[in-house]
Amino acid sequence: MSSSTPKPVPAYLPTAGSPLTIDPTIYTTIQSAPRQLLSSYRLPIRSGHAWTAPAGSIIRISTPEGPQVGDLNIWNQHNPRERFWASRTKQLHGSHVSVHDRLWSTLPYMRPMVTILSDTLSWYGRDEHGGRVHDLLGTRCDPYINSLLSGGAEYDFHCHSNLTRAVLPFGLTEFDVHDVINLFQVTGLDEKGRYFMSPCPAKAGDYIEFLAEQDVLMALSTCPGGDLSLWGFGSDSQKDMIKCCRPLQVEIYKLEDDDLLQKLGWQAAEPAKYRGMHGMTVTDELPDVGGAVIMNDRAPCDINTISRADYLDGGIGVVFDQFSPGDVFHQKRFAMAYHMKPLLKIDLGEGIALFQAAKPGRGEIVKAKRHS
Ligand SMILES: [Zn+2]
Repeated sequence: MSSSTPKPVPAYLPTAGSPLTIDPTIYTTIQSAPRQLLSSYRLPIRSGHAWTAPAGSIIRISTPEGPQVGDLNIWNQHNPRERFWASRTKQLHGSHVSVHDRLWSTLPYMRPMVTILSDTLSWYGRDEHGGRVHDLLGTRCDPYINSLLSGGAEYDFHCHSNLTRAVLPFGLTEFDVHDVINLFQVTGLDEKGRYFMSPCPAKAGDYIEFLAEQDVLMALSTCPGGDLSLWGFGSDSQKDMIKCCRPLQVEIYKLEDDDLLQKLGWQAAEPAKYRGMHGMTVTDELPDVGGAVIMNDRAPCDINTISRADYLDGGIGVVFDQFSPGDVFHQKRFAMAYHMKPLLKIDLGEGIALFQAAKPGRGEIVKAKRHS
């Protein structure tokens, strides 16, 4: 490379007022305001746990007994298609994150899921090997790569498995588990660009705190690699690594002053404004449909509160009417209906109708109104 090549600037360097940066005064005030503990849970070694936290709540994850890394996943509580996007977050903020960085969600939502309020390991910076803490470079350990690399060893308590078991009660599966943020984990790339991990620097009582920017479902695994000081693959390593495994603690708080967030001008994160049509236009005129018609692919939505919804790309959605059978709604009241073809209208006495997606996309639902 020519030495005259100028040093590149970060590709996503935020400008003033960018959503990539927050108002530190607001977030410092939130962090230091009186709060009330809603719930707490101590994750035993080599286990997983999942919990929900409403928008505006504070989630603290700590190392109560000393160094231990934790693999964290995040979803929108009401829509698991929206989940943490480690790659984009890495581009927007950095390979490792700390105070006032935000963890962003996948397309087509593209909004903050949480903002980091505090981080007692922010002092770590960049170590002599180029390692940094709270890693977005890597992902969770999993039994598939373990068996691949160690010749068929069976071990069921990797982070991927711990996260899978943790989210099952929330109706999610292995396919919902995604690339993590490795909390308290020091990683970097060596001179050849190879991923490395260094022992966790956390002491008893270290923590990282997040402000939920939307209603979230979070899942955490106490990595079977413990503090990573004895990392290795295969069954012998699993036995060895247990010596450096410790619990993690999760605490969820609400602010004592219920109005503080509003007074500070904080608002829950909104999805990005792009309409999601990708250059397509929909010209089909659709007839009125009986029953109001908003759905996601998992559960009926409350038509009065939802502001945006997904539907299955090219698939069939079962639509649950929240209103009484016989009520008629004009389809144009619902942006969703612009992109949906009625496939079949049936009255099962519960206002159920079937629709087929005509075009991929998403809709923004205007206020439901009875059509008389
Ligand atoms: Zn792990």
